[in-house]
Amino acid sequence: MKAAELLNTVLRNDYCSGCGVCTASDGSPFGMQLTGEGRYFPVLTGLENIDGIVCPFAQDTPDETALAGQLYAGAGVHFHEEFGYYRQIYTGHTADESFRLNGSSGGGVTWMAHELLRRNLTDFVVTVGETGPGTPRYAYRIISNPEEIFATAKSRYYPVSLDGVLEQIRRQPGRYTLIGIPCFIKGIRLLQQQEPVFAERIVFTIGIFCGHLKSTHYLSLLAAQFPAHEEDIVSFDFRHKIPGRPANRYGTAIQLKNGRQLVKPNDQLFGTDWGLGLFKLNACDYCDDIIGETADISFGDAWIPPFEKDWKGTNMVVTRHPVIQKLVDEAIGKGDLVWQPARPEQLLQSQAGGFRHRREGLAYRLWLARKKGRWTPRKRVAPRRIHSRKRRKLYRLRMQIREISFASAFYRQPDKLRKQLRPIIRRVEKLYRHSLWTRLRLRIKRLVQKHK
Ligand SMILES: Cc1cc2nc3c(=O)[nH]c(=O)nc-3n(C[C@H](O)[C@H](O)[C@H](O)COP(=O)(O)OP(=O)(O)OC[C@H]3O[C@@H](n4cnc5c(N)ncnc54)[C@H](O)[C@@H]3O)c2cc1C
Repeated sequence: MKAAELLNTVLRNDYCSGCGVCTASDGSPFGMQLTGEGRYFPVLTGLENIDGIVCPFAQDTPDETALAGQLYAGAGVHFHEEFGYYRQIYTGHTADESFRLNGSSGGGVTWMAHELLRRNLTDFVVTVGETGPGTPRYAYRIISNPEEIFATAKSRYYPVSLDGVLEQIRRQPGRYTLIGIPCFIKGIRLLQQQEPVFAERIVFTIGIFCGHLKSTHYLSLLAAQFPAHEEDIVSFDFRHKIPGRPANRYGTAIQLKNGRQLVKPNDQLFGTDWGLGLFKLNACDYCDDIIGETADISFGDAWIPPFEKDWKGTNMVVTRHPVIQKLVDEAIGKGDLVWQPARPEQLLQSQAGGFRHRREGLAYRLWLARKKGRWTPRKRVAPRRIHSRKRRKLYRLRMQIREISFASAFYRQPDKLRKQLRPIIRRVEKLYRHSLWTRLRLRIKRLVQKHK
């Protein structure tokens, strides 16, 4: 694709997730910049007519099903209508508690990265690490020492970009394993088709399930709810595990310059309801890959019974690459991974909200955009005016919350932001509330079950 086409479609219509893959093809005229809105966005630094630009949201590129089919289809691989190609699905955690307790979920991602380095199956792991106070607070980095991988554990609900590390990969030969959210991995797959150097050097990809990406303002909003200045926070933990609480009722922890750690459960922090989507990138509302369908292995949270009760965290895992599968089989056999096979329905259940928002919700958003004559990326979901009036209203309100929060100047003033969003959030809460009749029905059902 020509640079001009990217500018006139994806960029002009705000479908960029900031992955930075557009900067990586040979001679690309794009560079990445962190904008005042707290997100990465490409800037043109060369000629518009340069060709060979790659973007996961571009119109005429293979979709995730096609890309994954080229990579994985074959013996021992299954296909599911909702989440594509897979070998096995598991729930579980690492046996070594240091991976699990240090990780966001079951510690699987860090374990896998460590294991690939330890077994010399890869020379480098490309992942996200903390850079310290200031903006940006997190960035992609390249790691070769397995012991250094521990410090990169945990989910960062924060924008990052691949531009710098892709430049390093081009310069430095070696075997790289890249960790990323679904649209970033899709971008890498497209880049690998375009540029042989990345196909040769990126030997494994580890996908992370993704609800959506946030701007840097999300961290600022959370930080502002602690009795501390943002610049005095040396370390930020978006996924602090709280003993005894269900895994999905985690907290946020900050480490101050003076060594003090402060923790708040997320249900006491405004803005942490993922369903509302504060500071969400617009691109995320037009993505239909929740689990990283083009990655060699993908990891998420198993927030379903009975695992959700365990505060230590449990992964939902999907394998695709035969070498990774062999490594997993051996580790389960040796007892290093406490993983048990899971059913597709369990995977769907664990991401039910995500699938609703990116299937039914996406169909409706595409329909709305087309109605307004707006360009949209082509998706595997067809534009459709969904039947339920209530759900249509919910998706429209979510779009409003996203837009208002994204542009709001109050990201360091939680009370003002709350006031600004209150009327819409109230309307969302009203939609969630069961009607009197439904509540009565549920109560009767519970009473009948109790007396059976
Ligand atoms: C933006 C985002 C949205 C997510 N949404 C969902 C969701 O909707 N449903 C769900 O089940 N799971 C979601 N996850 C994944 C989940 O939070 C855990 O990361 C996953 O379960 C792996 O846990 P773990 O304990 O195995 O990983 P850990 O051992 O904690 O390792 C996490 C790894 O991910 C890397 N990483 C952290 N942040 C980023 C980032 N922004 N981009 C790329 N790499 C990163 C870290 O550097 C580390 O290598 C999301 C993660 C992110 C970053």
